[in-house]
Amino acid sequence: MKVAVILPAAGLGTRMRPTTPEGAGTSRKQFMLLDGAPILLHTIRQFVACRYVNEIIVALRKEDLQWVGELIQREQPSKPVHLVEGGDSRQQSVENALAVVSIDTDLVAVHDAVRPFIDQETLKKVIHTAGETGAAIVGIVPVDTVKQVHLTKVRGTLPRDRLILTQTPQVFRLELLQEAFAKASGDEFTGTDESGLVERLEKVEVSVVLGSDRNIKITRPSDMELARLFLSEERARESEPA
Ligand code: C5P
Repeated sequence: MKVAVILPAAGLGTRMRPTTPEGAGTSRKQFMLLDGAPILLHTIRQFVACRYVNEIIVALRKEDLQWVGELIQREQPSKPVHLVEGGDSRQQSVENALAVVSIDTDLVAVHDAVRPFIDQETLKKVIHTAGETGAAIVGIVPVDTVKQVHLTKVRGTLPRDRLILTQTPQVFRLELLQEAFAKASGDEFTGTDESGLVERLEKVEVSVVLGSDRNIKITRPSDMELARLFLSEERARESEPA
């Protein structure tokens, strides 16, 4: 099975203010520094380390293509990492990357560049499940009760045991994802994740693999504090004697 990974990293990071030392100089979360390296690089390393992944495609804003390309080259990754220009929406960025995956790709995994704490076990599980079923996503069960509202008034309470909070990776058979993007584009539909586009095809049931609450999407300034904590815990674990 050949697996291509798409990392959309062309966002502007409008919800992140540069208030932390790492944030100085950028409000774009994918480039904030964690332990001296941009978050995007931490994420790329996770997929380079995964033996089931064959190639990685990163969608970037035009002005970032060169310096990020040089940064990645310095890493000397053990598998191909290609760069493409992203679009004005996350969906457009993923679509641009999808257009350049190798033609012999079986599965495409889409993962937010700003989720550097994806663990190898979850990665393996979601790729294997998608290999069997055609479509699998990572999710966690909510701990809070979720309400439907209209403005400031509650309109309903959703049964928690039937909900998951979706994360990434989201993994699909190549042709399925291509068809989902073609349909979305034809219908001028914009979703907030790839699964939403695949669900609209009504062709396959999307499987859910339980993930971890450490697989955070670094979005707000406080997320950086959590990210630093997770990273220091990881480093401490790595330095423990076996
Ligand atoms: O903005 P949002 O939280 O949805 O971003 C999720 C991921 O999508 C981030 O890694 C961001 O860089 C990426 N993105 C993108 N192109 C855009 C907007 C967001 O690649 N136009």
